[in-house]
Amino acid sequence: MYELLLIRYGEIGTKGKNRHVFEQRLQANIQSALKGLGIEEVERAHARLYVPLKADLEAVVKRLQRVFGISSFSPVVRVPLDPQAIEKAAIEVMAAGLRQEQPDGGRLTFKVDTRRANKGFPITSPVMSSNLGAVLLQEFPQLAVDVHQPQLTVQVEIRDQYSYVYTERIPGPGGLPVGVSGKGVLLLSGGIDSPVAGYRMMKRGVRPIAVHFHSYPFTSERSKEKVLELARVLSTYGGPIPVHVVHFTEIQKAINQHCPGRLMITIMRRMMLRLAEAIARREGAGALITGESLGQVASQTMESILVTNAVVELPVFRPLIGADKMEIVELAQEIGTYKLSIQPYEDCCTIFVPRHPEIYPELSEVENAEAKLPVEALIQEALERTELIICGEE
Ligand code: ATP
Ligand code: MG
Repeated sequence: MYELLLIRYGEIGTKGKNRHVFEQRLQANIQSALKGLGIEEVERAHARLYVPLKADLEAVVKRLQRVFGISSFSPVVRVPLDPQAIEKAAIEVMAAGLRQEQPDGGRLTFKVDTRRANKGFPITSPVMSSNLGAVLLQEFPQLAVDVHQPQLTVQVEIRDQYSYVYTERIPGPGGLPVGVSGKGVLLLSGGIDSPVAGYRMMKRGVRPIAVHFHSYPFTSERSKEKVLELARVLSTYGGPIPVHVVHFTEIQKAINQHCPGRLMITIMRRMMLRLAEAIARREGAGALITGESLGQVASQTMESILVTNAVVELPVFRPLIGADKMEIVELAQEIGTYKLSIQPYEDCCTIFVPRHPEIYPELSEVENAEAKLPVEALIQEALERTELIICGEE
Protein backbone atom coordinates (compact mmCIF):
# COMPACT_ATOMS: atom_id res chain seq x y z
CA MET A 1 0.00 0.00 0.00
CA TYR A 2 2.73 2.48 0.93
CA GLU A 3 4.52 3.57 -2.20
CA LEU A 4 6.55 6.37 -0.74
CA LEU A 5 8.83 7.04 2.18
CA LEU A 6 8.92 10.58 3.54
CA ILE A 7 12.28 11.55 5.04
CA ARG A 8 12.69 14.38 7.53
CA TYR A 9 15.91 16.06 8.42
CA GLY A 10 16.27 18.11 11.53
CA GLU A 11 19.37 20.05 12.22
CA ILE A 12 20.42 20.76 8.66
CA GLY A 13 17.27 22.74 8.16
CA THR A 14 18.67 25.34 10.53
CA LYS A 15 21.87 26.11 8.68
CA GLY A 16 20.84 29.23 6.80
CA LYS A 17 22.79 29.91 3.63
CA ASN A 18 24.43 26.51 3.58
CA ARG A 19 21.12 24.83 3.53
CA HIS A 20 21.08 23.75 -0.08
CA VAL A 21 24.60 22.30 0.25
CA PHE A 22 23.39 20.21 3.17
CA GLU A 23 20.27 19.10 1.37
CA GLN A 24 22.14 18.09 -1.77
CA ARG A 25 24.71 16.18 0.27
CA LEU A 26 22.00 14.35 2.19
CA GLN A 27 20.17 13.55 -1.03
CA ALA A 28 23.36 12.15 -2.59
CA ASN A 29 24.22 10.17 0.55
CA ILE A 30 20.74 8.64 0.62
CA GLN A 31 21.03 7.77 -3.04
CA SER A 32 24.31 5.95 -2.54
CA ALA A 33 23.10 4.23 0.63
CA LEU A 34 20.18 2.78 -1.36
CA LYS A 35 22.34 1.52 -4.22
CA GLY A 36 21.45 -1.95 -5.39
CA LEU A 37 17.84 -1.76 -4.16
CA GLY A 38 16.54 -0.51 -7.50
CA ILE A 39 15.69 2.94 -6.15
CA GLU A 40 17.18 5.54 -8.45
CA GLU A 41 15.51 8.79 -7.66
CA VAL A 42 15.30 10.60 -4.35
CA GLU A 43 12.91 13.52 -4.66
CA ARG A 44 13.42 16.75 -2.76
CA ALA A 45 10.62 19.21 -2.01
CA HIS A 46 9.95 21.68 0.80
CA ALA A 47 12.53 20.56 3.34
CA ARG A 48 11.56 16.92 2.86
CA LEU A 49 12.93 14.06 0.83
CA TYR A 50 10.81 11.34 -0.73
CA VAL A 51 11.98 7.88 -1.68
CA PRO A 52 9.78 5.62 -3.83
CA LEU A 53 9.30 2.36 -1.92
CA LYS A 54 10.24 -0.02 -4.68
CA ALA A 55 12.00 -2.37 -2.30
CA ASP A 56 11.09 -4.04 0.96
CA LEU A 57 10.38 -1.35 3.57
CA GLU A 58 12.57 -3.06 6.17
CA ALA A 59 15.57 -3.21 3.84
CA VAL A 60 15.21 0.47 2.95
CA VAL A 61 14.81 1.53 6.58
CA LYS A 62 17.83 -0.52 7.64
CA ARG A 63 20.02 1.31 5.14
CA LEU A 64 18.58 4.72 5.94
CA GLN A 65 19.13 4.26 9.65
CA ARG A 66 22.84 4.63 8.88
CA VAL A 67 22.54 7.84 6.89
CA PHE A 68 23.46 10.74 9.17
CA GLY A 69 21.32 13.83 8.81
CA ILE A 70 18.00 11.96 8.76
CA SER A 71 15.90 12.71 11.82
CA SER A 72 12.96 10.44 11.04
CA PHE A 73 10.97 8.80 8.28
CA SER A 74 7.43 7.68 7.60
CA PRO A 75 5.87 5.42 5.01
CA VAL A 76 3.18 7.66 3.50
CA VAL A 77 0.25 7.58 1.10
CA ARG A 78 0.39 10.50 -1.32
CA VAL A 79 -2.89 11.76 -2.76
CA PRO A 80 -4.07 14.88 -4.60
CA LEU A 81 -5.43 17.92 -2.73
CA ASP A 82 -8.90 16.50 -2.65
CA PRO A 83 -10.89 15.85 0.56
CA GLN A 84 -12.36 12.64 -0.80
CA ALA A 85 -8.99 11.26 -1.78
CA ILE A 86 -7.64 12.16 1.66
CA GLU A 87 -10.58 10.37 3.30
CA LYS A 88 -9.91 7.25 1.30
CA ALA A 89 -6.22 7.38 2.18
CA ALA A 90 -7.02 7.81 5.89
CA ILE A 91 -9.20 4.69 5.79
CA GLU A 92 -6.45 2.73 4.07
CA VAL A 93 -3.81 3.90 6.50
CA MET A 94 -6.03 3.09 9.48
CA ALA A 95 -6.75 -0.39 8.13
CA ALA A 96 -3.01 -1.01 7.89
CA GLY A 97 -2.47 0.41 11.38
CA LEU A 98 -5.17 -1.88 12.79
CA ARG A 99 -3.44 -4.89 11.28
CA GLN A 100 -0.30 -3.98 13.21
CA GLU A 101 -1.62 -2.80 16.56
CA GLN A 102 -3.08 -5.13 19.18
CA PRO A 103 -6.05 -3.23 20.56
CA ASP A 104 -6.44 -3.98 24.28
CA GLY A 105 -9.94 -4.81 25.37
CA GLY A 106 -11.04 -4.76 21.75
CA ARG A 107 -10.84 -0.96 21.36
CA LEU A 108 -8.06 1.00 19.77
CA THR A 109 -7.75 4.66 20.63
CA PHE A 110 -6.80 7.12 17.94
CA LYS A 111 -6.81 10.69 16.84
CA VAL A 112 -6.38 12.54 13.56
CA ASP A 113 -3.81 15.30 13.36
CA THR A 114 -3.94 17.59 10.32
CA ARG A 115 -1.27 20.11 9.29
CA ARG A 116 -2.24 22.51 6.56
CA ALA A 117 0.98 23.99 5.19
CA ASN A 118 -0.94 25.01 2.05
CA LYS A 119 -3.30 27.77 3.18
CA GLY A 120 -4.98 27.71 -0.25
CA PHE A 121 -6.63 24.44 0.73
CA PRO A 122 -10.20 25.40 1.66
CA ILE A 123 -10.74 23.29 4.78
CA THR A 124 -8.98 24.25 8.02
CA SER A 125 -6.94 21.71 9.98
CA PRO A 126 -9.34 21.28 12.94
CA VAL A 127 -12.32 20.78 10.63
CA MET A 128 -10.36 18.33 8.51
CA SER A 129 -9.31 16.35 11.60
CA SER A 130 -12.79 16.10 13.03
CA ASN A 131 -14.34 15.17 9.66
CA LEU A 132 -11.77 12.42 9.17
CA GLY A 133 -12.20 11.25 12.76
CA ALA A 134 -15.93 10.83 12.17
CA VAL A 135 -15.36 8.94 8.93
CA LEU A 136 -12.91 6.57 10.63
CA LEU A 137 -15.23 5.93 13.59
CA GLN A 138 -17.97 5.01 11.20
CA GLU A 139 -15.76 2.75 9.12
CA PHE A 140 -14.09 0.93 12.03
CA PRO A 141 -16.38 0.19 14.99
CA GLN A 142 -13.44 -1.00 17.13
CA LEU A 143 -12.04 2.54 17.34
CA ALA A 144 -12.41 5.12 20.10
CA VAL A 145 -11.15 8.69 20.04
CA ASP A 146 -8.51 9.79 22.54
CA VAL A 147 -6.93 13.11 21.72
CA HIS A 148 -4.51 13.04 24.66
CA GLN A 149 -2.88 9.60 24.59
CA PRO A 150 -4.00 7.83 21.44
CA GLN A 151 -2.48 4.47 20.56
CA LEU A 152 -2.50 5.53 16.94
CA THR A 153 -2.35 8.93 15.30
CA VAL A 154 -3.37 9.43 11.70
CA GLN A 155 -1.27 12.29 10.39
CA VAL A 156 -2.48 14.34 7.46
CA GLU A 157 -0.17 16.90 5.86
CA ILE A 158 -1.58 19.22 3.27
CA ARG A 159 1.18 20.66 1.14
CA ASP A 160 1.38 22.61 -2.12
CA GLN A 161 0.91 19.83 -4.61
CA TYR A 162 -0.14 16.80 -2.61
CA SER A 163 -1.48 15.60 0.69
CA TYR A 164 0.34 12.97 2.71
CA VAL A 165 -1.33 10.54 5.07
CA TYR A 166 0.48 8.25 7.51
CA THR A 167 0.62 6.84 11.02
CA GLU A 168 4.19 5.79 11.64
CA ARG A 169 7.27 7.80 12.51
CA ILE A 170 10.51 5.81 12.56
CA PRO A 171 13.52 7.51 14.19
CA GLY A 172 16.58 8.19 12.04
CA PRO A 173 20.16 8.41 13.27
CA GLY A 174 20.28 12.23 13.51
CA GLY A 175 23.54 14.08 13.03
CA LEU A 176 24.79 15.83 9.89
CA PRO A 177 25.28 14.32 6.42
CA VAL A 178 28.77 12.83 6.03
CA GLY A 179 30.85 15.26 3.99
CA VAL A 180 29.26 18.57 4.96
CA SER A 181 31.81 19.28 7.69
CA GLY A 182 34.85 18.50 5.53
CA LYS A 183 37.42 15.72 5.73
CA GLY A 184 39.29 14.46 8.78
CA VAL A 185 42.19 12.05 9.13
CA LEU A 186 41.21 9.29 11.55
CA LEU A 187 44.08 7.53 13.32
CA LEU A 188 42.61 4.06 13.20
CA SER A 189 44.16 1.36 15.36
CA GLY A 190 42.66 -2.08 15.78
CA GLY A 191 41.40 -1.15 19.25
CA ILE A 192 37.95 -0.40 20.59
CA ASP A 193 38.21 3.39 20.81
CA SER A 194 39.34 4.78 17.48
CA PRO A 195 36.53 3.25 15.33
CA VAL A 196 34.03 4.75 17.78
CA ALA A 197 35.80 8.12 17.55
CA GLY A 198 35.53 7.90 13.76
CA TYR A 199 31.83 7.10 13.98
CA ARG A 200 31.24 10.06 16.28
CA MET A 201 32.90 12.51 13.88
CA MET A 202 31.13 11.00 10.87
CA LYS A 203 27.91 11.71 12.71
CA ARG A 204 28.96 15.38 12.80
CA GLY A 205 29.41 15.41 9.04
CA VAL A 206 33.12 14.58 8.75
CA ARG A 207 34.26 12.39 5.88
CA PRO A 208 37.00 10.16 7.32
CA ILE A 209 40.31 9.28 5.75
CA ALA A 210 41.93 6.60 7.87
CA VAL A 211 45.60 6.19 8.71
CA HIS A 212 46.88 3.00 10.26
CA PHE A 213 50.41 2.48 11.55
CA HIS A 214 51.60 -1.02 10.94
CA SER A 215 54.76 -2.61 12.29
CA TYR A 216 55.29 -5.54 9.99
CA PRO A 217 56.83 -8.09 10.70
CA PHE A 218 56.34 -7.40 14.42
CA THR A 219 52.63 -7.14 13.79
CA SER A 220 50.98 -9.62 11.45
CA GLU A 221 49.14 -9.24 8.14
CA ARG A 222 46.09 -10.35 10.05
CA SER A 223 46.28 -7.33 12.37
CA LYS A 224 46.23 -5.08 9.31
CA GLU A 225 43.28 -7.02 7.85
CA LYS A 226 41.41 -6.43 11.10
CA VAL A 227 41.81 -2.66 10.72
CA LEU A 228 40.59 -2.81 7.12
CA GLU A 229 37.57 -4.76 8.35
CA LEU A 230 36.88 -2.03 10.90
CA ALA A 231 37.07 0.57 8.14
CA ARG A 232 34.56 -1.48 6.14
CA VAL A 233 32.11 -1.43 9.05
CA LEU A 234 32.52 2.35 9.35
CA SER A 235 32.00 2.70 5.59
CA THR A 236 28.43 1.44 5.99
CA TYR A 237 27.72 4.79 7.71
CA GLY A 238 28.94 7.04 4.93
CA GLY A 239 30.55 5.37 1.95
CA PRO A 240 34.01 4.02 1.11
CA ILE A 241 36.92 4.98 3.37
CA PRO A 242 40.48 5.30 2.09
CA VAL A 243 42.93 3.69 4.51
CA HIS A 244 46.57 4.72 4.38
CA VAL A 245 48.67 1.93 5.87
CA VAL A 246 51.94 3.47 7.05
CA HIS A 247 54.91 1.17 7.62
CA PHE A 248 55.99 2.24 11.05
CA THR A 249 58.62 -0.38 11.84
CA GLU A 250 61.73 1.64 10.91
CA ILE A 251 60.53 4.57 12.98
CA GLN A 252 59.93 2.38 16.00
CA LYS A 253 63.34 0.75 15.63
CA ALA A 254 65.01 4.16 15.44
CA ILE A 255 63.20 5.41 18.54
CA ASN A 256 64.01 2.23 20.39
CA GLN A 257 67.67 2.56 19.48
CA HIS A 258 68.20 6.26 20.16
CA CYS A 259 65.72 7.42 22.79
CA PRO A 260 65.10 6.57 26.47
CA GLY A 261 62.62 3.75 26.88
CA ARG A 262 60.25 5.66 29.13
CA LEU A 263 59.77 8.29 26.39
CA MET A 264 59.18 5.69 23.68
CA ILE A 265 55.39 6.03 23.62
CA THR A 266 55.43 9.82 23.71
CA ILE A 267 57.85 10.03 20.81
CA MET A 268 56.01 7.34 18.88
CA ARG A 269 52.79 9.27 19.25
CA ARG A 270 54.46 12.48 18.10
CA MET A 271 55.67 10.65 15.00
CA MET A 272 52.15 9.31 14.39
CA LEU A 273 50.65 12.78 14.57
CA ARG A 274 53.29 14.24 12.24
CA LEU A 275 52.61 11.51 9.68
CA ALA A 276 48.87 11.88 10.02
CA GLU A 277 49.15 15.63 9.50
CA ALA A 278 51.30 15.15 6.39
CA ILE A 279 48.61 12.86 4.96
CA ALA A 280 45.90 15.31 5.98
CA ARG A 281 47.61 18.12 4.06
CA ARG A 282 47.89 15.96 0.96
CA GLU A 283 44.26 14.92 1.17
CA GLY A 284 42.89 18.34 1.99
CA ALA A 285 41.67 17.26 5.44
CA GLY A 286 41.12 19.93 8.09
CA ALA A 287 41.54 17.94 11.30
CA LEU A 288 42.98 14.81 12.88
CA ILE A 289 40.82 12.41 14.91
CA THR A 290 41.96 10.04 17.66
CA GLY A 291 40.24 7.69 20.09
CA GLU A 292 41.93 9.13 23.17
CA SER A 293 40.05 9.31 26.47
CA LEU A 294 41.48 11.34 29.33
CA GLY A 295 43.48 9.30 31.80
CA GLN A 296 42.83 5.95 30.14
CA VAL A 297 46.54 5.16 29.69
CA ALA A 298 49.90 6.90 30.26
CA SER A 299 49.82 8.64 26.90
CA GLN A 300 46.40 10.14 27.60
CA THR A 301 47.19 12.45 30.50
CA MET A 302 46.97 16.22 29.99
CA GLU A 303 50.78 16.41 30.07
CA SER A 304 51.17 13.69 27.43
CA ILE A 305 48.52 15.22 25.24
CA LEU A 306 50.23 18.62 25.47
CA VAL A 307 53.55 17.15 24.37
CA THR A 308 52.13 15.11 21.48
CA ASN A 309 49.85 17.89 20.29
CA ALA A 310 52.83 20.27 20.11
CA VAL A 311 54.06 18.79 16.81
CA VAL A 312 50.94 19.54 14.74
CA GLU A 313 49.06 22.62 13.67
CA LEU A 314 45.79 21.05 12.62
CA PRO A 315 43.16 20.67 15.32
CA VAL A 316 43.08 17.19 16.86
CA PHE A 317 39.52 16.03 17.54
CA ARG A 318 39.18 13.61 20.44
CA PRO A 319 35.45 12.94 20.59
CA LEU A 320 35.90 10.33 23.37
CA ILE A 321 38.00 12.49 25.66
CA GLY A 322 35.23 12.64 28.27
CA ALA A 323 33.82 9.15 27.78
CA ASP A 324 34.22 6.17 30.13
CA LYS A 325 35.42 2.86 28.74
CA MET A 326 32.03 1.26 29.38
CA GLU A 327 30.28 3.96 27.39
CA ILE A 328 32.73 3.48 24.53
CA VAL A 329 32.24 -0.29 24.64
CA GLU A 330 28.48 0.13 24.49
CA LEU A 331 28.68 2.37 21.48
CA ALA A 332 31.16 0.01 19.80
CA GLN A 333 28.65 -2.82 20.27
CA GLU A 334 25.84 -0.72 18.91
CA ILE A 335 27.69 0.34 15.76
CA GLY A 336 29.08 -3.12 15.07
CA THR A 337 32.82 -2.66 15.61
CA TYR A 338 33.21 -4.25 19.04
CA LYS A 339 33.51 -7.90 18.00
CA LEU A 340 36.21 -7.04 15.49
CA SER A 341 38.08 -4.80 17.90
CA ILE A 342 38.41 -7.44 20.60
CA GLN A 343 40.01 -9.98 18.27
CA PRO A 344 43.41 -10.57 19.84
CA TYR A 345 45.91 -9.24 17.33
CA GLU A 346 48.97 -7.33 18.44
CA ASP A 347 49.11 -3.57 18.02
CA CYS A 348 52.18 -1.56 17.07
CA CYS A 349 51.94 0.31 20.37
CA THR A 350 52.76 -2.84 22.29
CA ILE A 351 56.05 -3.43 20.49
CA PHE A 352 59.24 -2.30 22.26
CA VAL A 353 57.15 -0.60 24.88
CA PRO A 354 58.56 -0.41 28.42
CA ARG A 355 56.64 -1.47 31.50
CA HIS A 356 56.74 2.02 33.00
CA PRO A 357 56.17 4.71 30.40
CA GLU A 358 56.40 8.35 31.44
CA ILE A 359 53.02 9.63 32.54
CA TYR A 360 54.11 13.29 32.80
CA PRO A 361 56.58 13.88 29.97
CA GLU A 362 58.24 17.27 29.69
CA LEU A 363 58.34 18.97 26.33
CA SER A 364 61.99 20.07 26.52
CA GLU A 365 63.19 16.64 27.53
CA VAL A 366 61.22 14.98 24.75
CA GLU A 367 62.55 17.46 22.21
CA ASN A 368 66.13 16.78 23.35
CA ALA A 369 65.62 13.05 23.03
CA GLU A 370 64.11 13.48 19.60
CA ALA A 371 67.05 15.56 18.42
CA LYS A 372 68.95 12.29 18.04
CA LEU A 373 66.49 11.13 15.38
CA PRO A 374 66.49 12.05 11.68
CA VAL A 375 62.80 12.99 12.05
CA GLU A 376 62.28 14.45 8.56
CA ALA A 377 64.01 11.58 6.79
CA LEU A 378 62.09 8.98 8.78
CA ILE A 379 58.81 10.68 7.92
CA GLN A 380 59.59 10.99 4.23
CA GLU A 381 60.62 7.38 4.01
CA ALA A 382 57.49 6.17 5.83
CA LEU A 383 55.26 8.29 3.59
CA GLU A 384 56.84 6.84 0.48
CA ARG A 385 56.16 3.34 1.69
CA THR A 386 52.53 4.04 2.55
CA GLU A 387 49.98 1.78 0.97
CA LEU A 388 46.48 3.03 0.10
CA ILE A 389 43.48 0.71 0.33
CA ILE A 390 39.90 1.81 -0.28
CA CYS A 391 37.53 0.03 2.11
CA GLY A 392 33.81 -0.42 1.57
CA GLU A 393 31.51 -0.57 -1.39
CA GLU A 394 30.83 2.33 -3.71
P1 ATP B 1 42.30 2.37 20.64
O1 ATP B 1 41.30 1.54 21.39
O2 ATP B 1 41.65 3.27 19.64
O3 ATP B 1 43.40 1.55 20.06
P2 ATP B 1 43.81 2.87 22.98
O4 ATP B 1 42.96 3.01 24.18
O5 ATP B 1 44.46 1.57 22.72
O6 ATP B 1 42.94 3.33 21.72
P3 ATP B 1 46.35 4.18 22.45
O7 ATP B 1 46.94 2.91 22.03
O8 ATP B 1 47.09 5.07 23.39
O9 ATP B 1 44.90 4.02 23.11
O10 ATP B 1 46.01 5.04 21.18
C1 ATP B 1 45.39 6.27 21.27
C2 ATP B 1 44.91 6.67 19.89
O11 ATP B 1 46.03 6.75 19.00
C3 ATP B 1 44.02 5.63 19.27
O12 ATP B 1 42.68 5.81 19.66
C4 ATP B 1 44.21 5.90 17.81
O13 ATP B 1 43.45 7.02 17.39
C5 ATP B 1 45.68 6.25 17.75
N1 ATP B 1 46.49 5.04 17.45
C6 ATP B 1 47.11 4.22 18.31
N2 ATP B 1 47.73 3.20 17.66
C7 ATP B 1 47.51 3.39 16.35
C8 ATP B 1 47.87 2.69 15.15
N3 ATP B 1 48.59 1.57 15.18
N4 ATP B 1 47.45 3.19 13.98
C9 ATP B 1 46.71 4.32 13.93
N5 ATP B 1 46.33 5.01 15.01
C10 ATP B 1 46.72 4.56 16.21
MG1 MG C 1 45.10 0.82 20.98
